Amino acid sequence: MKTSIIGYPRVGTLRELKFASEKYFKGEIAIAELHQTGANLRAAHWKIQQENGIDFIPSNDFSFYDSLLDTACLLNIVPDRYQALGLNPLETYFAMARGYQGEQGDVKALAMKKWFNTNYHYMVPEIDDSTTLRLAGTKLFDEFLEAKQQNIVTKPVLIGPFTLLKLAKYKGAKQAADFVGQAAEAYAVILKQLNELGAEWIQLDEPGLVTDLSQEDIGLFSKLYTQILSSKGNVKVLVQTYFGDIRDCYPTLQALPFDGIGLDFVEGTQSLALVQQYGFSDDKVLFAGLVNGKNIWKNQYKRTLGLIHELKVHVKNIVLSSSCSLLHVPYTLQHETKLANESKRYLAFAEEKLQEFAQLKAIGAQADPYSSALYLQNEELFNSARFTNNEAVQAKVAALTEADFTRLPAFNEREAIQKSKFQLPLLPTTTIGSFPQTAEVRANRFSFKNGSITEEQYKQFNFEKIAACIALQEEIGLDVLVHGEFERNDMVEYFGESLDGFMFTEKAWVQSYGTRCVKPPIVWGDISRSKPMTVEYSAYAKSLTSKPIKGMLTGPVTILNWSFPREDISLKDSAFQIALAIRDEVLDLEANQIEIIQIDEAALREKLPLRKSDWQSEYLSWAIPSFRLVHSGVQAETQIHTHMCYSQFSDIIRDIDAMDADVITFEASRSDLAIIDVINQCGFQTEVGPGVYDIHSPRIPSVEEIKLGLHRMLEKIDIAKLWVNPDCGLKTRGEKETWASLKQLVQATKEVRETL
Ligand code: GLN
Ligand code: ZN
Repeated sequence: MKTSIIGYPRVGTLRELKFASEKYFKGEIAIAELHQTGANLRAAHWKIQQENGIDFIPSNDFSFYDSLLDTACLLNIVPDRYQALGLNPLETYFAMARGYQGEQGDVKALAMKKWFNTNYHYMVPEIDDSTTLRLAGTKLFDEFLEAKQQNIVTKPVLIGPFTLLKLAKYKGAKQAADFVGQAAEAYAVILKQLNELGAEWIQLDEPGLVTDLSQEDIGLFSKLYTQILSSKGNVKVLVQTYFGDIRDCYPTLQALPFDGIGLDFVEGTQSLALVQQYGFSDDKVLFAGLVNGKNIWKNQYKRTLGLIHELKVHVKNIVLSSSCSLLHVPYTLQHETKLANESKRYLAFAEEKLQEFAQLKAIGAQADPYSSALYLQNEELFNSARFTNNEAVQAKVAALTEADFTRLPAFNEREAIQKSKFQLPLLPTTTIGSFPQTAEVRANRFSFKNGSITEEQYKQFNFEKIAACIALQEEIGLDVLVHGEFERNDMVEYFGESLDGFMFTEKAWVQSYGTRCVKPPIVWGDISRSKPMTVEYSAYAKSLTSKPIKGMLTGPVTILNWSFPREDISLKDSAFQIALAIRDEVLDLEANQIEIIQIDEAALREKLPLRKSDWQSEYLSWAIPSFRLVHSGVQAETQIHTHMCYSQFSDIIRDIDAMDADVITFEASRSDLAIIDVINQCGFQTEVGPGVYDIHSPRIPSVEEIKLGLHRMLEKIDIAKLWVNPDCGLKTRGEKETWASLKQLVQATKEVRETL
């Protein structure tokens, strides 16, 4: 059995590429040194795959920033404003990725978007009517030759034309269909050149195929590939899909002259059924994605071998593959010095996954795989009680009934009760929670972590920060105050660290975009809360003011979406466990006279399934109830807020209303307040606070522009339901601009109130 990897992480085991790039951006190292770092990483990645006997080792999966941006540059999709800078190719590339401000001009970066259902972000290629798609780069070929010089014949990988054209943004009148001829021609030229260089296989990534496809989409795909494959020469073409199944186009792929088709048997819930139903052509190779490229758990060999066994009934040629690029998991367990071996046994990061490929290959070669030592060892892991079980939590989840998800009295009644209780002015002003995390705030946390100050000193500093923050909020006249979140490193990590059942790594970084990496916590066992997590600071803030204090929590869906989830229980059960823990915190805050509680669901929309037909059944049907479970136990007088980032909510706006919060704030200003129309049209019951100014730059908004924004909102939103607040993330700003901006916000609100 042969083995294949779709792609390998590229930032380096210790984020070498990140640090080299950042130095290069600051002008601290020359371009040659950055290139050298890239070359070293590529060599290391090829070598370790070779050592583990991977038969199809990818090249061109390396990137200085993003693979879709690489693909765009390879195909001459470089908007004029970047070309006009007159920079060298790599500098032009970085200008597209990060924007450019300097002697050659001033341009913003391309838009960035989430890559399908992952936390990775790609740069959105921009095509206008004058764009000509043609081969305009050499990276793909250079890296193939580079590996060849190291005696490794790689499988070059490239994002395919269908996904590229579907994800691009069209600035003119021309649309994807207008570029089919050019794209097909360019890809055909690429295949021809690879052929001449001696490539045996090329992998064209088409994750766009696992989304809902129209007849038009399928037509576009067929047209592209009919043309590309008609002149491909000797090089074999693997069309690689991942992140789901290709239920809308399986027969189409079988009918086209591909040499290989890559299917995902981890996230592709229908992949097996499709193979069983339609069969698999004998003259094609199935690259079976059976080793999860997205999660960090060891592969269960029993499942993998069982599936291969079943697939063999229908498929003549099978290659064992990862389910997607290993880009989405951290590098290696080797640098995790603090994790117990007992826990490590269950984990497989990218390097350990390579070892799994080697083991599966070895096991597969045995006469009786199921009695081999490697197999038995693996099975033992899955048969033993592996997680920190908490029977009390499990019992609580099992005993949940509809009543636990229903807050009483109903919204309208609560709204009236709360209005008479809080007596807030019309257009109440507030913030989304955090205040600037200055260097001294971070230094304080750091000193406490490394033991150079005592817990008392650490807390004392935070208390002083809170006191100053409350005083300033009172001084500028905000209506609902927050404590400022000075104790929080990150909105998920903070809660993960305080809850039982999470595991933290030291070096397990995953690329989020460009040089930015995240270190998601791992859901290791049943989740529970052994003690209050936020009450002390919120209660302290409360003791300083007669104004309402808003307690600040992260919601269960966001905590789960930004962690590596378990695979032995459902996401729903995990979310409910987390929800029960956060619920206890909500009730504790309430018992400590915190009358307003915000439960952030910043990432609620992020894990919405790729197919609309799965939205309810696989996600919203438990995500929305998880949130309701968190707050259903509070009194009618207690006001529950929530907050969401990003602004594309039109398609799930009713589900958001069904979360049954009392108030919701949205990040909105960067999308030109598009949310207000959506709210207006659907009869939204929840009170709303669309962010009225963008906090992503140090710029201080004028009173006039904030008033303008408020007037626009008032045209569409009932004044009794409108709150005034900035966008989220004040923690990333400096203190000066924060306070100056908030003053303007309060002033603008006062002026608008006076005209009522
Ligand atoms: N409460 C957090 C803050 O204000 C919310 C962060 C977010 O929206 N991602 O920063
Ligand atoms: Zn936000």
